[in-house]
Amino acid sequence: MKVAIVGAGVSGSYLLSRLEGHDVKAFELFSREEYDPVCAWGTSRYAMKEFSKRVGLNFEDYILHVGKELVMDLGRIGKGELRLKLSGLCTFDKRRYQLDLLKGRDVEFGKRFDKGDYDLVIDATGVSRAMLPKAEDLLVPCYQYLVKFREPPFDDFRLTILETMTGYLWYFPLGGNLFHVGGGDVFGRHKAPLDEFVKKHGGEVLKASGKAVRITPPELAQPFYSNGVVGVGEAIGTVHPIFGEGIIPSLQSSELLAEHLFDLEGYRKAVIKKFAPFKSPFKVVKAFVEGRFSFSKMLKDLVRMFVDVKLNEKRYGVRVGLEDMLLPFKRF
Ligand SMILES: Cc1cc2nc3c(=O)[nH]c(=O)nc-3n(C[C@H](O)[C@H](O)[C@H](O)COP(=O)(O)OP(=O)(O)OC[C@H]3O[C@@H](n4cnc5c(N)ncnc54)[C@H](O)[C@@H]3O)c2cc1C
Repeated sequence: MKVAIVGAGVSGSYLLSRLEGHDVKAFELFSREEYDPVCAWGTSRYAMKEFSKRVGLNFEDYILHVGKELVMDLGRIGKGELRLKLSGLCTFDKRRYQLDLLKGRDVEFGKRFDKGDYDLVIDATGVSRAMLPKAEDLLVPCYQYLVKFREPPFDDFRLTILETMTGYLWYFPLGGNLFHVGGGDVFGRHKAPLDEFVKKHGGEVLKASGKAVRITPPELAQPFYSNGVVGVGEAIGTVHPIFGEGIIPSLQSSELLAEHLFDLEGYRKAVIKKFAPFKSPFKVVKAFVEGRFSFSKMLKDLVRMFVDVKLNEKRYGVRVGLEDMLLPFKRF
């Protein structure tokens, strides 16, 4: 098969390696120098280890920080902090990882894809969804700083839940005194608390970037394929709607596409099945966005979300109890 991969983020660069044996070429909008897709670089060590093995990389070589505990600051929505034990949540050098996936392969940087003579075009353009027809969409605007703290205020993963429950701030250690500190909120009210956090703790901002994340789950982000184009990764909504975690889900969708390259309807069905657990957290977010969240009415979806994480603690990198999961929602 002659295949064009449009977008060399995590899903596109992984697929380029994974589709070895076909005639595959990737096109990436950023130049090689500017190439740095915005992300906080948090993921689960164990799931990434398995994916990395399949494309000949040793994930341990890219790890920057392995977390012991995730502290959730409940701010005004609850009492104090929630502390979750971690089972593999880490940060890794995602840029270097992706560049290593691309190394020695056919990739053109600084290039917006134009039509060519391809049997299949893969839309791996993330939130842009540049090649597929538009779908129903809920995008969460985010802003992130790379921050150096002379004296880091915390030494492990930390989240601060925003009062509206439609967003949060994150603080992810990258090793040494460097951190990704960012915020995202459906209503775009994350920038002021983010700046306040960085200022309060005396952080030096080395880099700032903004980008949105698509939280519409795959079932609602259809079509996945149309007119010789098939989507993968965040382009088709493979992001956990509450956690905003898209690296592993994007790789999961890349794997499914590699397995179903000649059967796109089979791919569509497999993606919908795999990401069915994302429907409940999406309903919860939507209920907050539309101002109709009620703890008792949404309990079924909250429990479903808990069961998904509980059954996949190593894949999510975090250990949870039902009480922990429900606590931030109980006040509403
Ligand atoms: C601020 C922020 C923080 C995040 N933090 C985390 C985190 O810590 N952990 C986690 O799991 N997930 C995180 N996510 C989500 C995660 O980064 C994405 O869901 C995941 O990277 C999606 O992978 P992808 O390959 O589908 O898309 P992307 O990684 O976004 O890659 C898409 C690529 O396509 C390129 N492109 C776009 N349009 C075109 C075009 N027309 N032609 C050619 N190329 C094009 C882009 O330049 C980019 O390189 C975060 C998202 C944001 C916005």
